[in-house]
Amino acid sequence: MTPISEILRRCVISSDDELFHRLEDGTLSERSHLVETLAIIGELHERRAALPRGFSSLFVYCTQRLGYCERTAYRRIAAAKACRSFPLILELLRSGKIHLTAIVLLREHLTPENHESVLARAEGASMDQLKRMAASMSPMQAAPTERTRVIAVIDKERLFGGLEASTGAGEQSGLAFPPAPPLMFRTEHQFTLGDAAEAKLMRARELLAHKFPMGDLESIFEAALDSLLDAVDPSRRKARPDAEPRPLADQTRRIPEWVRRKVRDRDEDRCAFVSREGIRCGERRFLQFDHVVPWSLGGRSDDPANVRQLCAAHNRWAWRHAFVTRS
Ligand SMILES: [Zn+2]
Repeated sequence: MTPISEILRRCVISSDDELFHRLEDGTLSERSHLVETLAIIGELHERRAALPRGFSSLFVYCTQRLGYCERTAYRRIAAAKACRSFPLILELLRSGKIHLTAIVLLREHLTPENHESVLARAEGASMDQLKRMAASMSPMQAAPTERTRVIAVIDKERLFGGLEASTGAGEQSGLAFPPAPPLMFRTEHQFTLGDAAEAKLMRARELLAHKFPMGDLESIFEAALDSLLDAVDPSRRKARPDAEPRPLADQTRRIPEWVRRKVRDRDEDRCAFVSREGIRCGERRFLQFDHVVPWSLGGRSDDPANVRQLCAAHNRWAWRHAFVTRS
């Protein structure tokens, strides 16, 4: 590898022409490397190959092992998946007719029917033009122009339900006008969080990722309020189940609460999968309890040593490994 001092020295002593020449050469090989990288990422993604190496996803591998920032990992994986569906993109990227950002912006709108014409329109387009292209293919509802404490918004569920119902009713009665969209009211609260509260909010978001994959704060906040009210509101307080450690009389698949608590403490609410190379996954989201020896093969549910926490990806991988690879 050329020392940095040598690279800098060669820049200083080169003419403008030489520098432009080297810049253009470098850009060409950079594009070729990018195309190869995307092809490799697409293949590894298809094979789910990061899982047995101790990473819960290729995204985690790219950030933790390759040192990509989250944005770069997301963009490259998204583009790689688009390239799997439409290999023409690799050709366009290598020739420099289109750039990675354009693919990331347009990928969700590409279909087998339209991808050639959409990609042709994207060649040489500015960012503004690309955003307009993407927006024109997925029009969004206009956001309210004024922010007030109480906001009236269209209830989409009731609107579509109402329209479907009205379509049938309209056909029968001959009415030509759809009903006015139903409105619901929402209250806007604005407040700032200190570091401690922010950390708790983000932790709750991680733990509830299986329930709210988009991590929207309203759902997290409402779940937190439900838990709080269950604990302090006498009208909602529930009786706590008996959590005494005791072996199950009848062996069942259900993992008792006391085992779950012990396993959570032991695995620290992180995925316990360890690769052959000794890399522990450690994912904190999408955790599930897993029988080390599968229940259907005689593994016990009332023995903490036979239960572990795995992320959803490694749980699926372990299941395939236990059953599919044996058959
Ligand atoms: Zn995992």
